[in-house]
Amino acid sequence: MQLADVFQKLEDGSKRITPQREQIIRIFADHPGQPFSAEEIAHLMRERFGDVGLATIYRTLELLMDLEVVTRETVGDGRSHYQWPLDEGHKHPVMICLRCQSSTRIPEDHLRTVGSWALSVLEFQLVDYEMTLYGICRVCHLREQRRRRGRESIS
Ligand SMILES: [Zn+2]
Repeated sequence: MQLADVFQKLEDGSKRITPQREQIIRIFADHPGQPFSAEEIAHLMRERFGDVGLATIYRTLELLMDLEVVTRETVGDGRSHYQWPLDEGHKHPVMICLRCQSSTRIPEDHLRTVGSWALSVLEFQLVDYEMTLYGICRVCHLREQRRRRGRESIS
C-alpha cells in the first residue's frame, strides 16, 4: 500500500488527517514488515509532539486496522504489535535442503533484526527482502550419519 492510498482511505471515511495521525502512519510506512507496540510509537512521537497519550495512539491504531492499513499480532509477552504488511509479492525466506529439496520457512523476526541493524548502522531503509539458505536438513544429516556408521561397522 502507498501512503497516498492511506490518506485517500481516511478522506473517503471522512476521517481527519491530524499531524499526529499522519506521523503514526509515516512511522509504519517507513518500516514495512516491522512490528511496533503502542509504547514504541509513543516513544518515536515524543521528539515532535511531546507526550502523546496511549489512548490517542490506540484510537489511531484501531482506525488504521479498520481501514486495513496495519495488521495486529500478539507476541510472546501477550502485548499487541502493529505492522504495515509487506507487499503481496513478498517471498518468505526459506531454508532449502540440498539433498531432499525440502524447504522450511525462516521466522521473519530474524530478518527484522538485520533490518534494524541496517537502519541504525547504515541508515539503509529496508523495503523488502528475499532470502534462501541452502544446506542439509536434520533428516538427511541423520540419514548420512547412519549410513557412515553402517559402513564403519562392516570394515
Ligand atoms: Zn533433506
